[in-house]
Amino acid sequence: MKYISTNTTASAVSLKDAVLTSMPSDGGLYMPEQLIPLDPDSLRKLPEMSFQEVSLLLTKAYLEDDVQVTDLEHIVSESMNFDVQLHKLDDQTSILETFHGPTMAFKDFGARFMAQLMSHLIRGENHELTILVATSGDTGSAVASGFLGIPGIRVIILYPSGKVSHRQEMQLTTQGQNITALEVDGSFDDCQQMVKIAFVDQEVSKRLMLSSANSINIARLLPQSFYFTWAAGQVMKHSRDIVFSVPCGNFGNITAGLIAKRMGVPIQHFVAATNLNAVFPEYLKTGLLNTRPSHPTISNAMDVGNPSNLDRIRYLYEDDLNRMRSDISSWSYTDDQTRIMIQETYSKFGYISDPHTAVGLLGYHEYQAQKKKNMQGIVISTAHPAKFPETVEPLIDCMIDIPPQLTRFLQREKQAMPMSSDYTEFKQYLLDASG
Ligand SMILES: *Cc1c(COP(=O)(O)O)cnc(C)c1O
Repeated sequence: MKYISTNTTASAVSLKDAVLTSMPSDGGLYMPEQLIPLDPDSLRKLPEMSFQEVSLLLTKAYLEDDVQVTDLEHIVSESMNFDVQLHKLDDQTSILETFHGPTMAFKDFGARFMAQLMSHLIRGENHELTILVATSGDTGSAVASGFLGIPGIRVIILYPSGKVSHRQEMQLTTQGQNITALEVDGSFDDCQQMVKIAFVDQEVSKRLMLSSANSINIARLLPQSFYFTWAAGQVMKHSRDIVFSVPCGNFGNITAGLIAKRMGVPIQHFVAATNLNAVFPEYLKTGLLNTRPSHPTISNAMDVGNPSNLDRIRYLYEDDLNRMRSDISSWSYTDDQTRIMIQETYSKFGYISDPHTAVGLLGYHEYQAQKKKNMQGIVISTAHPAKFPETVEPLIDCMIDIPPQLTRFLQREKQAMPMSSDYTEFKQYLLDASG
């Protein structure tokens, strides 16, 4: 299968090029040239399939042309080795918990799958692959954990000093092995800028085989369609009117859901729920794409003013707003509404939701109120509430149990290399690292 750019001017590339380069030279994003729907027989069997079986089914559908089935089985068994869980709130509402992985957010699925696939794709290369990641916290943790111990790949993480939480910093800096953390005296934007310059620096790319693990990589996107598909299979016996509500930031997660629908998975509708960063709801309403700097909120992983995967959604719908509107509804919510939703969900159901999940719940309730009909709603829970105790605990007036994944780093020793935000210092570090 070839991969093409959403801008379609760059020529089609192989899976290996799409995954290792991450981004086409024309500034678009890679998409598979074709999305061939699953056969009706596989779709009928969805309700009986485990999450791992569903993952393998889709992995084969996407990658069978390029990677042997035994290798695909290995990639899936090594990356999808924790569960997703469906938690029923009432007859029409379930929460899909995608946070049971090592860093307790859905980004673990994409990061782990990409790590295993990259490791496969560089087999036979005699150069080590160096992955550069700029992070404001969560992406870096998921990537560090996903790539830990993968042979032939080293990961260099740049994070802004003093601007990530203590727990996040410990997750970034205590992994060891093939993971190195650089503590940059600057902002997240500085970190991102340093990585961007390194990618276009010929002297660096002559010495190092560089790749990125950012959220636009197609290898991070595709595996996110697995849990949409599995969850749809779990509820399709109750109703064919399946609605997913997705808390959105860069819109990668929901794009994976839209891909699952294109693969024939019976999903009726999507709700794209955002916080005050409302670029997409406005776009869907007016057709005007007004990107702007992000606005800080309590659902901070969704503070995105220029959602990168919009290009993929527009590509999937050939820029046809009306078709988009028939598949997707989108609303934005304030922090106060989010806080009230956390409280209400707790008092009504005894269920603790994190701020991102609460935005998803708000979106689903709004859709339900508008449609007034029976449906099976699945709200994607993107992170464990214990990651946001300062926000959630005062609202529910109790302490959240902290899962061992989040604390096991705290006893270790931080190992980070201090770095200025000056590119020349970073460049020297990279050149020295190339040996
Ligand atoms: C990244 C993230 C999101 C947003 O996901 P996108 O794919 O960028 O839309 C939502 N919630 C949490 C907890 C996240 O980490």
